[in-house]
Amino acid sequence: MEGLYVPVSCQQCQDAPCLKGCPVGAISRNEELNRVEVDYDVCIGCRTCVSVCPFGAMHYNAIDGKVAKCDLCDGDPQCARFCDIKAIEYTDGGDVSIEKKRVAALRLSTVKKQAAALDEHTA
Ligand code: SF4
Ligand code: SF4
Ligand code: SF4
Repeated sequence: MEGLYVPVSCQQCQDAPCLKGCPVGAISRNEELNRVEVDYDVCIGCRTCVSVCPFGAMHYNAIDGKVAKCDLCDGDPQCARFCDIKAIEYTDGGDVSIEKKRVAALRLSTVKKQAAALDEHTA
C-alpha cells in the first residue's frame, strides 16, 4: 500500500493546552526562545499533557516515565540542519506569512497571464 508521511511536531502554542492541563506546573512558556518547555524535575508522568495536546505532539517515554516533546533544540533545530533536501526550515512566524503572500501573489499573476494569453488565442 502507498503511504504518506506527514511529520507533525510541537507547535509551541501561545496558549498551550498542555501547559494549562499540567496538574503540577511542570510546563511553562519560554518567551525568549519562543517555546513551551517541560521541567523534568517537576513532571510526575501523569500524561495529562499527552491527552490534551491537539496535535499529538507530546510523547510518553515508558522507560523513564516522563514525557517528551520538541524543544526546538535550543534554537538550533537539528531536523532542519540535517534534512538533506531542505524540506524543513526554521523561520520566524512573520516570514512564513510573507512567503505565503508572495506565493499567492505569484499564483494570481500567473493565472492573470494565462487568462490574457487565452483571450489573445481566442480573439
Ligand atoms: S505539546 Fe501540543 S499543546 Fe503543548 S505546546 Fe506543543 S503543540 Fe501545543
Ligand atoms: S506528564 Fe508531566 S508535564 Fe505532562 S501533565 Fe503530567 S506532570 Fe505535567
Ligand atoms: S530535531 Fe529538535 S527542533 Fe527538530 S523536531 Fe526534534 S527536538 Fe524539535
